[in-house]
Amino acid sequence: MDQSKYLEWLTKKLSQTNRVRFEERKVISLQEERSKFCIVINWTGLGAAALVPNANLYPPWITSYYNFGPINGHPGYIIPNVDSVVVGGTCEENNASLAVERKTTFEILECAKILFPSLVDAPVMAEWVGLRPASDSIQLECDESRKGFIIHCFGHGGAGVTLAMGCAEDIVNQYVASAIIKLRDRKL
Ligand SMILES: Cc1cc2nc3c(=O)[nH]c(=O)nc-3n(C[C@H](O)[C@H](O)[C@H](O)COP(=O)(O)OP(=O)(O)OC[C@H]3O[C@@H](n4cnc5c(N)ncnc54)[C@H](O)[C@@H]3O)c2cc1C
Repeated sequence: MDQSKYLEWLTKKLSQTNRVRFEERKVISLQEERSKFCIVINWTGLGAAALVPNANLYPPWITSYYNFGPINGHPGYIIPNVDSVVVGGTCEENNASLAVERKTTFEILECAKILFPSLVDAPVMAEWVGLRPASDSIQLECDESRKGFIIHCFGHGGAGVTLAMGCAEDIVNQYVASAIIKLRDRKL
């Protein structure tokens, strides 16, 4: 799935419903958000490490180089997107550097060309390093108090795109639904 296009499409689609309003700002404290909203969903990826005590999100973050191929014995990948082909990548535990390294880029490209020879003449459009939000398991849980509900959803590691819809369904159908019933009961 071409994430740059998918996220843009999804944002537009949700905006058009008039039921979703986007606001971009840095969240400093989840407790502060809970004092403003009765239900808060914390889906902040690596950012959860700063927001949740004992978040169990760690280095080892896993670093990956996009636009290039396999290295250090890890299997590579080649993903055809709409306007480009993405080749990768690396998994380097305990490396949280976002710097592109020429040697790694070279090795990944060489492997990608062996896997898919027609890439030999392909121009490199961009080099990119991303961090996967690694955790022992996905942390999908509700922190409930008299002040409201904080629903946590983070630690998807290298499968966040794949799992996003399923996690969103669980949040809405289980956690939000139950929080709404409890909030209603409290008002009675
Ligand atoms: C190279 C690479 C390849 C990958 N390939 C795949 C793949 O093929 N399939 C797959 O399923 N997954 C893949 N993944 C993993 C996937 O990208 C992640 O699991 C997914 O992006 C995690 O989504 P998320 O929404 O939880 O976190 P993020 O995508 O990190 O989103 C969290 C958002 O919260 C925001 N945020 C954080 N802290 C705060 C704060 N304090 N206040 C306000 N906003 C905040 C951030 O700015 C960000 O916008 C890959 C990852 C990488 C790096």
